[in-house]
Amino acid sequence: MSTLTLASIYPTLLGTYGDGGNVMVLRHRAALHGIDVDIVIVDPGEPVPESADVYVLGGGEDSAQTAAANALRADGALTRAAEHGAVVLAICAGYQLLGEYFPDSTSTPTAGLGILDIRTDRLPQRAVGELAATPKAPFDQILTGYENHAGATHLGSGARALGMVRAGIGNGDGSEGATSGHVIGTYLHGPCLARNPQIADTILSWATGRELAFIEEPEVTALREERLKTVLG
Ligand code: GLN
Repeated sequence: MSTLTLASIYPTLLGTYGDGGNVMVLRHRAALHGIDVDIVIVDPGEPVPESADVYVLGGGEDSAQTAAANALRADGALTRAAEHGAVVLAICAGYQLLGEYFPDSTSTPTAGLGILDIRTDRLPQRAVGELAATPKAPFDQILTGYENHAGATHLGSGARALGMVRAGIGNGDGSEGATSGHVIGTYLHGPCLARNPQIADTILSWATGRELAFIEEPEVTALREERLKTVLG
């Protein structure tokens, strides 16, 4: 089987709360499945490769988010790759900038990439804390992580929620995250894939075109159960 290329997009701008760990978890889960990966770090100012299999974006402060969105719009490769079916995982600021617009540091709507049919404005109050959601297909394991954002995200008819919030705020309307095709956006930090390994295996299934059976790691399951018990009772 050929090697999968994972592109970590602008980790110096989009990498709050340990979101860089998502790439490490993908590498770890790929190894469990016997899949070789190549990791490409794309720094601001460098061209985004169009041929990567998986693109990973993390969270960021408002000004870093605007800089990343403007650079990615000017570059164009991430948008073209997503149109061609590449897998995209985007967290928080990365999630918001995949949409039509999001608020900049002065709350002015700023153009995103239009990869996801979502629009982001402001929550009445910043959302900070644990976030847990009942998943929607293709996921069936409870979504868990923590959130820290001021954005409220509204889904259009071209996007589906990842799940429905049980604890925390998520998108702000009772739903959490958005997905369409092979693109996933979410407010879950943790890092997201460390706390939700089923999402990692789904990403690897999409990227390889193979139906990979979920591989359970007992220590991860135990940590998930402990955390969920604390958050959900
Ligand atoms: N700046 C965005 C917000 O506050 C995203 C924050 C983040 O990525 N943690 O909504």
